This record gives sequence, C-alpha cells and structure tokens, in this order.
Amino acid sequence: MARVELKNVQKTYADGSKAVHDFNLEIADGEFIVLVGPSGCGKSTTLRMVAGLEEVTGGSIAIDGREVNNLHPKDRDIAMVFQNYALYPHMSVYENIAFSLRLRGADRGEIDRRVRHAAELLDLTKVLDKKPKGLSGGQRQRVAVGRAIVREPKAFLFDEPLSNLDARLRVTTRAEIKSLQMRLKTTTIYVTHDQEEAMTMGDRIVVMHRGIVQQAGTPMEIYANPANRFVAGFLGTPPMNFVPGLVTTDAAGGVTFTEHNGPGSAGGFTIPLPAAWKDKLVNHINTPLVLGIRPQGLVECERSSAELVLKTTLVEPLGHETDITAKSPMGSSLVARLTSRPGMKAGEELPVRIEPSACHVFEPGEVGVNLTRRA
Ligand code: ADP
Repeated sequence: MARVELKNVQKTYADGSKAVHDFNLEIADGEFIVLVGPSGCGKSTTLRMVAGLEEVTGGSIAIDGREVNNLHPKDRDIAMVFQNYALYPHMSVYENIAFSLRLRGADRGEIDRRVRHAAELLDLTKVLDKKPKGLSGGQRQRVAVGRAIVREPKAFLFDEPLSNLDARLRVTTRAEIKSLQMRLKTTTIYVTHDQEEAMTMGDRIVVMHRGIVQQAGTPMEIYANPANRFVAGFLGTPPMNFVPGLVTTDAAGGVTFTEHNGPGSAGGFTIPLPAAWKDKLVNHINTPLVLGIRPQGLVECERSSAELVLKTTLVEPLGHETDITAKSPMGSSLVARLTSRPGMKAGEELPVRIEPSACHVFEPGEVGVNLTRRA
C-alpha cells in the first residue's frame, strides 16, 4: 500500500502536443481515485506516467515519498490492468495468474498460495484449469485483475478495464472491483470516460478536460457543487440543462434570473434566485450568464403555480421514471426527469416549477465558473 503524489506533472508528447497540464494530486494510502473525462482529455497519459510507461516532461511523481520519475516500471511496484486483458491464450487461468510470480522466481508454495487466494477472492477457483477462450468476458476481466492482485503491489492502476463488457456486466463487475478494493485496501487509480462508473466507484474523482484537472473531490461534493459548467454538464444523468440569460435585482432587493438570448431578444421565463446568492452575483448583474438546472429540478406542478410552461417534444419512459425533452417558450430545450407521466405525448404542455437547490449560475463559455458554488 502506498501514498501517491503528483506535483505539477506535465506531459508534452514528442510531436509537441500537450496532453497534461500541471496535474496536482495527493492520493492517500488505500484511497480509490477515479480519473474521469471525455476521450482525449489526458487520463491514460496521466496513468501511464504513474506506471512509468510514459515519461514525465515536467513535475514529479512520488510513491511513498520517493520520487519515481526515473524509475523503471518494474521497480515501481505497481500493477496495471488494461482494457484488453492481454491474457496468454495458451496458458491456463492458473498459469496466467501465476505468470508474474514465476518470472520473479517466487517459490512454488508461495505461488500456489497467492494464486488460490486471488482465485477465491475473484470467484475463479472452478475455472483455474481452463484456457482464456473458454471463459466469459467477465471472467477474463477477473483473471486480469487476479494477475494484478497476486503481485501484492503498492498500487493498482486500471485503464478503462470494463470497456469491453456489455452494459449489464459492467455494472456487476464495477461493484466487484469496488468491493474487492475495499477489502484489499490497496491504493487504486482508475481511469474511465464513464461518469456513472466514476461516481459509483471513487472515494474521490478527478474530472479532466483538455489535459487540465477541472475539479477533484468526493462524487457527491462534485455533483452537488460543480466548479464550472464543464464539470456540471459531465456528471449526472441526464446531463444538466443550461439556459442563457441575465440576472437582475428586483424591487424587493432580491435577485432574479431571466432567460435571454442576447441583444435584441425578448426576455423569456423568470425565476427568483435564492437570497443567499445576491452577494455572489452582485458583480454580474445584467451581463450574459447561464442558468444550470438538473433535470430532477424541473418539477411538474399545477399550471397556476408554474414558473414555466414547457412544450413536450420527446418522451422517454424508463420504467419508474420518465425523461421529458421540452422547449421553453423562447426555444431553450430542456430535459425534465419526472417520477411519473410515462404516457405523456409530444406536443403536450408541461407546467413546472424550478427547484432552486438543483440550480447553479455559471459564467458563459465551456468552462464558465460556477458563481453560486456553496462554500
Ligand atoms: P484519454 O485517456 O483521456 O482518452 P490520452 O491520455 O490517451 O487521453 O490522450 C491525451 C491527448 O494526448 C490526446 O490529444 C491524444 O491524442 C494525445 N496523445 C496520446 N498519446 C500520444 C502519443 N503517443 N503521441 C502524441 N500524442 C498523444
């Protein structure tokens, strides 16, 4: 087990492309960290630098206080699990799991003890004699994890390990990996582009975009309090709605958001914002801003108490919930997640109120700052 520390870590590839800018993170002993972000944001590059498979071009990486920048991968005492499990097809499951220990010259008794222990943890005992081609995708994935476990490394690094599995198997396997990590308490860095995987697995998650860490924190901290519009839009299903508009002060001294599409546009719907936001927004009165509303924050209500009447364009029943895509009178497209209404039809009107606790106000732009972050 180990602490892993990344300080001002950078990566510029030989062709001049900058994949990672100034990455800083202290990972505690036993922590499960998930690096998440869209394809190409620099997650794998960061992981590969920790593994030693990619050279660091700036900053330092330390494991248990010792800088490892120039240490060979095999001397870093960490084990990596990849998306393509890279199992040896001609070897049995037992031999695949034992392989790295044999290379190291471990004695037979010790190899047998560790392989059987890993097989038990991973429910592979009955298939130890089989070849990889006789296994299901989930079992192959577990063999790959078994190979990492037997090495008893200081840290596990996972690079999109579930991408080759179907949706149902991904959900069960992610729970298995999470509970295994909780038992072994081995420091883990896990890379995925899947926000749900990140939310459900990480003790903390690190959201990356264009090689830059946008925010690091516990899943619920980040979900409830996104630092900027990119993070807000990346985590959560369906994604947060964004509506352009202006904030004004009203006669009573409160602050109000009005949907607005830029110069010349007539104002659309108006909602009062929490009084506590006044100080946060006072320097942004009458400048273009963006209101973020989680789909769960659009709550169907009586027409008489509605803040907004939407016009439904698409209905997606999910069983116990329904996603309704609908347009505001000014044409903003919004998604509401309702706990009823599977039978709603396109064209129907949907009167809603907007739950302030599901809202945030952002500066404009892809990574516009969340001005209403709770401290
Ligand atoms: P992710 O894992 O988030 O999908 P990567 O770390 O693989 O992202 O890639 C980050 C960026 O670095 C991308 O723009 C990618 O094209 C670039 N990149 C990755 N590997 C190389 C390489 N060997 N040479 C040049 N550019 C690379």
